[in-house]
Amino acid sequence: MNVAVVTVGDELLAGDTTNTNATWLCDELDARGVSVERVTVVPDRVADIARVVNEYRAEYDAVIVTGGLGPTHDDLTMKGVAAAFGRPVVEQEEALTWLTEHGGYTREDLATGTAHLPQGARVLHNEVGVAPGAVVDSVYVLPGVPSEMKGMFESVADEFSGVEKHVTVVEADEPESALLDRIEALQETFDVTVGSYPGEYVRVKISGPDPEVVEAAAGWLRDRVDPVEN
Ligand code: ATP
Ligand code: MG
Repeated sequence: MNVAVVTVGDELLAGDTTNTNATWLCDELDARGVSVERVTVVPDRVADIARVVNEYRAEYDAVIVTGGLGPTHDDLTMKGVAAAFGRPVVEQEEALTWLTEHGGYTREDLATGTAHLPQGARVLHNEVGVAPGAVVDSVYVLPGVPSEMKGMFESVADEFSGVEKHVTVVEADEPESALLDRIEALQETFDVTVGSYPGEYVRVKISGPDPEVVEAAAGWLRDRVDPVEN
């Protein structure tokens, strides 16, 4: 399964907020064997949200959008997602009923617009905060507040699955450029995905669906690099 993640918020683009939602989602999806193909940050602007959601829903199996829910003036995500489908946003009775029955709110407490979701959307209840999320076809719309986003993602996590990957890391005490020949040979010899990440040492991440192949590749490489002395 291929997925794109779209995070919405002017504060992300201004550098005021670190995009921890994207990292958390990538980690969760990767652990489920889902391949994340895009992470995009867009401003709180309906046309920008609609454009990327429309492009990505055509390209990937699912799109996860976070941020900009709720009734305040800069919360435009539901409008953007609705626009991507050529639909209006409409008040969803089911969302209002849930908030009054389970959320402990009266209808008067809830600001106008709280339960406005794209027409025909499946409602995702917010166990942690107020703003409901939504699923429209393959597009999942989650809140921006990290605790709310995580809680809501857990409620749909089963809908995200893929081929489980086996991962192992080989550390090498050599400059990254010196390793190129062996990394190339590794890729020619074994059917694995290889990433190399320089730091104090180079971490070579080897992954693939078959644990035996991954371990064989790691063993092959370990025998051919300068090991890190502990
Ligand atoms: P609410 O349900 O409260 O209306 P929301 O969906 O409207 O939330 P935002 O208004 O976009 O969410 O953001 C709420 C808070 O969550 C802000 O403090 C924001 O900085 C933070 N936040 C939003 N997006 C992210 C993100 N991608 N990573 C980390 N924090 C985020
Ligand atoms: Mg908000």
